[in-house]
Amino acid sequence: QKNIGILTSGGDAQGMNPCVRAVVRMAIARKCRPFFIYEGYQGLVDGGDKIKQAKWTDVSGFLTSGGTMIGTARCKEFREIEGRRTGVYNLIKKGIDALVVIGGDGSLTGADKLRAEWPDHVAALEKDGRISKEDANKYRTLMIVGMVGSIDNDLASTDMTIGACSALERICESVDAILSTAMSHQRAFVVEVMGRHCGWLALNAAISTGADYLFIPEAPPKDDWEESMCKTLKASRDAGKRTSLVIVAEGALDRNLNPIKPDYIKDILSTRLGYDTRVTILGHVQRGGAPAHFDRFLGTMQGAEAIEAILRATPDTPSPVIGMLENKITTQPLKEAIELTGQVAQAIESKDFARAMALRSASFSK
Ligand code: ATP
Repeated sequence: QKNIGILTSGGDAQGMNPCVRAVVRMAIARKCRPFFIYEGYQGLVDGGDKIKQAKWTDVSGFLTSGGTMIGTARCKEFREIEGRRTGVYNLIKKGIDALVVIGGDGSLTGADKLRAEWPDHVAALEKDGRISKEDANKYRTLMIVGMVGSIDNDLASTDMTIGACSALERICESVDAILSTAMSHQRAFVVEVMGRHCGWLALNAAISTGADYLFIPEAPPKDDWEESMCKTLKASRDAGKRTSLVIVAEGALDRNLNPIKPDYIKDILSTRLGYDTRVTILGHVQRGGAPAHFDRFLGTMQGAEAIEAILRATPDTPSPVIGMLENKITTQPLKEAIELTGQVAQAIESKDFARAMALRSASFSK
């Protein structure tokens, strides 16, 4: 019988709650004991009542609610080796021998580090007399399973991350609302959506709302983009369209890696085309509210698979990340997924945009 801790970390995403619910209930169904770890890695470092056994009924109502009911945080201490050692101590004291982490690439990098360092931490804690020899023998390894909770859909190894579908749904609803007023007044709107390093939300929102122009970090526009944007928007207006819509990812860049900001785009459209142009920054509304059907489904399927992955694992099994590729729930080495994701950022930094796009597409179809 395993004791399985579960935490949510990094930015919240709709669908984290359904995932937590599935982990708790599948653990109980498979005769394990689930434990909530509240406030992400902060709860791991704080220990005490931040780590608490979860009952079946503790996750009632989780399926339909947004955010994360067990809390999330950015935890500085966990980035340091001493913080992670305290986390190891707290897990051992609670008798936890497997950990499920739902978070973005930072959270999963931290999880992978914790697992790799685990034997050294155990040895050091035993040496310092903080844990007994018996405990040191009993808790030789920690199994960690990751799931990607991120509205950005920015991690390799999965076609969809938990929360991305709900965020896209929210963006489309908001842009639809903007378009009805824009059309009445023949206005242009520049809408900023989330996505610091990944243009998935912006790209899909642009396709789904019929945007005229799009800016994403992986594919910066040509140097004369101001001219080309104005031409494109004017051609649409000349053809009878009453509105103009530009979607910008918050991390959009030009070819020199300078940010492209909505206010600058607005100024171009106002001064060069004379359009009455407004900026809307959608902000946190994108990550709020109830999860869409798909995130409830994805969170549930992946949460159930996380428990199976823990029960299948041997001490030598690399930490897996649960994903979904071509409609099938998958299990892949966490390290590889993080490395592949990091390569996209590196390609952008080195201005190899063709490679950034190729890697992004490969990570969805792999
Ligand atoms: P989001 O995509 O929403 O930003 P994230 O998981 O990438 O989510 P981060 O803030 O990068 O969010 O990470 C969340 C937490 O994970 C950090 O506050 C820290 O505690 C831990 N963490 C992140 N990166 C590392 C790392 N390299 N080593 C150890 N811990 C880390």
